[in-house]
Amino acid sequence: MPGKTTDGALSEVCRRCKENSSVLVVRLEPLCQDCFARYVHTKAIKRLETFRVNFHTNEERKVLLPLTFGVSSTTLMHILDLHLKTQMSKTGRTGFALSVLAIGNAEGTLPVDGFLDKVRRQYPGDAALRDLVPHAADVRNFSDQEQLASLINSLPSASARADVLSTLRTRLIVEHARSAGCQSILWGDSTTALAEKTLAETCKGRGFSLPWQVADGKTPFGVYFHYPLRDVLKKELVSYIDLADSGLASLVHESTPGATQASTSSKNTTIDDLMKQYFESVEENFPSIVSNVVRTSSKLEVPAGADSDPRCGTAGLGKESVKAFAAHAPEHIYLTGRNSTAAASLMAEVRSERSTAALSFIELDLSSLRSPVGFDCTDKLAPLAKDKDLANRLWDWTDKILARYDGADG
Ligand SMILES: [Zn+2]
Repeated sequence: MPGKTTDGALSEVCRRCKENSSVLVVRLEPLCQDCFARYVHTKAIKRLETFRVNFHTNEERKVLLPLTFGVSSTTLMHILDLHLKTQMSKTGRTGFALSVLAIGNAEGTLPVDGFLDKVRRQYPGDAALRDLVPHAADVRNFSDQEQLASLINSLPSASARADVLSTLRTRLIVEHARSAGCQSILWGDSTTALAEKTLAETCKGRGFSLPWQVADGKTPFGVYFHYPLRDVLKKELVSYIDLADSGLASLVHESTPGATQASTSSKNTTIDDLMKQYFESVEENFPSIVSNVVRTSSKLEVPAGADSDPRCGTAGLGKESVKAFAAHAPEHIYLTGRNSTAAASLMAEVRSERSTAALSFIELDLSSLRSPVGFDCTDKLAPLAKDKDLANRLWDWTDKILARYDGADG
């Protein structure tokens, strides 16, 4: 059930307008339908300060929204459309021009054309929504469908296949943004999705990329990434879609909105699936844990000079993380990277500081498509996902650390 709806709460009056009766409880506040919609809008619009109407320039900023027809990106499209209309009615102009890029899935089970028609019907003649699909000329970038399928199928594990597909997808979206002259990409990720990504990317040895995969700002690709729904939980977006009048729900293609089902075969479970299942269950009763993960990872910054070789887990952020973890006397640290010599010297350094932690180096090169990228650490991670006690201790510790920053950024 989206939000926290209890029978008792439903009879209560809305905490904000104190007029209407509440329809759901959001972070302990019973809210009516209007106030809940305003709550979600405000959270998203607050993140879009950069895209205010700028009266000092006639240059139109172009932004790209990748639309996957899931709950999050569909909601974001709807909110952006309302936001542009508000800007237009208040100031006679808009702060940005929106391009929407429709994204299918690799299995081809999503009827993109049909959904796109529905989107066009619901947002008709809206000057703000254009370039809904990549131009025909861009299709050659997708190369031969069969070639892609055989490349993907040659990867040995489900995690590797999912990872390569999402890497390629991001690169394609970035390329499209650049060719369409967009300076920014607005991703639909909810708080929950960003928390999943934080842990999943770290597990995959790609912690270095978190500053731009989770936080708003510059990326090494030359375009800006923004996450306007970063302060809204996935379950709140599900409620938003459920409560929205218009035909918004009909635009959503998501097999199981709400809790993701565990795959029956662990062989087909990816790291992303594990993290998704974990955070969607945590968000149900402990939403602040989800927000804490995102708030913590948003504090990460790319160290100056790291641009030259940011990809190895044994240098920069990866190295500093290992040293920071070692100081807390953990039982075991797994470190990943491409450079085994650097790993050996890092492990020697940690041992010389008399850390009692066992250290294991897992060599993997995620940027190489020629070497087998298919390292599958799902088996190694499964016990962690099951160990509730360990997880609870980790969250308690995070809470304590974050308490020091309370009030810093809400
Ligand atoms: Zn209200």
